[in-house]
Amino acid sequence: MLSLNDPLLLKTQLFINGEWVNGDSGNTFPIVNPATGTEICKLASGNKNDTNTAIKCAQNAMQKWRQLTAKYRTQILKQWHALIMENIDDLALILCAEQGKPLAEAKGEIQYGAAYIEWFAEEAKRIYGDIIPSNNANQRLLTVKQPIGVVAAITPWNFPNAMITRKVAPALAAGCAVVVKPAEATPLSALALAELADRAGLPKGLLSIVVGVDAIEIGKALTDHPLVRKLSFTGSTKVGKLLIKQCADTVKKTSMELGGNAPFIVFEDADLDQAVQGAIASKFRNAGQTCVCANRFLVQRSVYQEFTEKFIEQTKKLIVGNGNTENVTMGPLINTDAVQNIHALVTDAERNGATKVLGGAASELGSNYYLPTILTNVTPQMRIFNEEIFGPVAPIIPFDTEEQALELANATEAGLASYVYTQNYARIWRFSENLENGIVGINEGIISSEVAPFGGVKESGNGREGSKYGIDDYIEIKYLCMGGI
Ligand code: ADP
Repeated sequence: MLSLNDPLLLKTQLFINGEWVNGDSGNTFPIVNPATGTEICKLASGNKNDTNTAIKCAQNAMQKWRQLTAKYRTQILKQWHALIMENIDDLALILCAEQGKPLAEAKGEIQYGAAYIEWFAEEAKRIYGDIIPSNNANQRLLTVKQPIGVVAAITPWNFPNAMITRKVAPALAAGCAVVVKPAEATPLSALALAELADRAGLPKGLLSIVVGVDAIEIGKALTDHPLVRKLSFTGSTKVGKLLIKQCADTVKKTSMELGGNAPFIVFEDADLDQAVQGAIASKFRNAGQTCVCANRFLVQRSVYQEFTEKFIEQTKKLIVGNGNTENVTMGPLINTDAVQNIHALVTDAERNGATKVLGGAASELGSNYYLPTILTNVTPQMRIFNEEIFGPVAPIIPFDTEEQALELANATEAGLASYVYTQNYARIWRFSENLENGIVGINEGIISSEVAPFGGVKESGNGREGSKYGIDDYIEIKYLCMGGI
């Protein structure tokens, strides 16, 4: 059992229209701690009927919410933020137990997730329209911005807290209601957030959480329903493409936060210690299970050896174990399938000529653990160069010229994050502008913040989360043309 200060934050039911319910089917499913393989609790399993109920209630609740002043919405969101920060220890324990990341990292995620609520609480007050100079002296033209309608959010297991707040906070701030389907592996953080939103005074029906074993059924109910006007999805490119197709029939607006294949480029004029520090942070955070994790290390040949040695030295300092143990800096992967998939990528690389210079095997700690791994002599022909690793494996590829580095960096359909290490200011501009990515970290390995726009280009998706742009995804622009003046 989890030992929480407030045991009521561990929820085992669905949250629909402001009520905790068992759901239509009466079925349950187990939530398992990836660090130990033990069951944390059983959770009610929702289905399409539960989803449809949540959508209808969302539509009702939204009619009043959208009419309230932005200032009122701000106050509720700020109260929600305050309650999250008050309960950060419990929320971190729940997150660590269901997802596996170390407690300190879990706390970091909760702070980061809460920051989106605070940010969008403030942005709610700044949803300005325009007055447009007219071509006709008898007319006045203006725009108003209105909430798009009921929002569906489907979220992944790697950030069980922050992926919820990144979508729910701007939606509520804009005047929308939201139905969330969290990942079935990690729904407890979402449910705890809903409990705190309820305590913060969020009116019933504005936030519902429908979790279930059948993601396809719940997903279809969300994408088919005509009242849902917007889908915000974070997850794999494969599922994202499917959901875009499903949304076409009712012409929903979509935001897609899909897979990455981030290049991490180190030029010979880089500060190598800084680059190694960034590499560790970018590669091994959340055991490599983030869509902005460095996926391919491109290192200029003249510093290849030195960078690799320093990188190995620092990677060896990582402490792998159960995230709730003091000093552990890297937890387990989400499940055994993840370990097997990652090991298959490593094996393929080795078979095709890569050299394992660190790790490269499952850990003795258990079937969900994989050792921090570094591979050298990786080539663009290998699967590991072309696929998202989503684990603690760092492939290093040498390059000779800036042109070659750019070609290698952009040789992927993914276009989320990238990282460049160089001290040459002209190259910083040149190179950053030519990278086909939505985000570029320059001499920096940690790029995510609620004040900045997060999102990708190419097959990494569309839409931006966070920043002054983030609320646009939840808004429709209405143009008013006033004649006879
Ligand atoms: P991952 O491979 O990281 O688990 P997924 O894209 O499979 O990424 O999952 C992300 C989210 O999408 C999860 O909440 C999952 O339940 C959900 N999901 C997976 N398949 C579908 C689907 N066919 N329709 C709707 N949601 C889905």
